[in-house]
Amino acid sequence: MTRERLTFVIAAHNEELVLPQLHPRLCAVLDGLAGIDGHILYVDDGSSDTTWSLIASLAQADPRVSALKLSRNFGKEAALTAGLDHVREGAAMILDADGQDPPELVPHFVERWREGYDNVYGTRLVRDGESWSKRAAASVFYRVIGRLSRTPIPADTGDFRLLSPRALSALREMRERHRFMKGLFSWVGFRRVAVPYHRHARLAGSSKFSLWRLWNFALEGITGFSTVPLRAATYMGLATAGVAFVFAIWVIAKAAMYGDRVAGWPTMMAVILFLGGVQLIALGLIGEYLGRLYEESKQRPLYLVDAWLAPSVADSELQ
Ligand code: UDP
Ligand code: MG
Repeated sequence: MTRERLTFVIAAHNEELVLPQLHPRLCAVLDGLAGIDGHILYVDDGSSDTTWSLIASLAQADPRVSALKLSRNFGKEAALTAGLDHVREGAAMILDADGQDPPELVPHFVERWREGYDNVYGTRLVRDGESWSKRAAASVFYRVIGRLSRTPIPADTGDFRLLSPRALSALREMRERHRFMKGLFSWVGFRRVAVPYHRHARLAGSSKFSLWRLWNFALEGITGFSTVPLRAATYMGLATAGVAFVFAIWVIAKAAMYGDRVAGWPTMMAVILFLGGVQLIALGLIGEYLGRLYEESKQRPLYLVDAWLAPSVADSELQ
């Protein structure tokens, strides 16, 4: 019987405190998976602490572990892309380095995969250790993106998921620079299923995502998966023009009936300011999309690799 290959892909940015705790747990899970040829791939996303030397020594000590070092910090989405690109064959299981995605649940994911699902994703039932504001922001975000995006994006779902070989190779074809992974995973389609889980607090260290970074992440999601804001600008313009037209008729009728006594300065200011505001908002919106188009048109690589330690893989074997 040929054993199916499964690679854990873990992006890490300054995670020296948590990796030594996570690694033994991962190994225990790998050992317990019957009939699976398990591997671990760590991606060091430009850490400034000892993360790289840690994962490099793990890779040297264990032939199942490989380590990839990016040339600088490219962000979690690019780091995950790099990791998934370097999975040689088989399925991939994505986890956070901080233990918030419990590796002990992986057997459930594998079970679902064996039932024929391509995209098995973890859905958070409870989120420990996250501030009230972050949870509220997340809930608003999922509601907005759910309304705006044509690709349904499951709520309370992060990157914790298992991708079958065909889902993985479909994902690899998407080389866009602005990567909103939650959306990309959903866009791929195929058979998907949720695995509910309890999301614990970080093992140690602090979150790399501030509210500002989350806001930018949300913008990425909305502009990447919807053009509704652009259309909204059109409707806003139409509505304003409609109101302005009615107002003009009223002004002309009033002047014809009662004469024009050069009044109305406040109304004029109000209209000018309002229209100016609407125009700037619409311009800003177009700018958001145009800026992204500009970034895409540069066709830069998504990430650069500094080092690649893969005990058992020759570079030529990679796609
Ligand atoms: N991460 C990364 N590059 C970054 C920021 C984060 O690879 O620029 C990794 C980080 O090491 C962790 C995962 O992404 O494994 C999730 O980050 P974090 O726990 O800080 O985010 P949160 O769980 O608070 O959303
Ligand atoms: Mg985390």
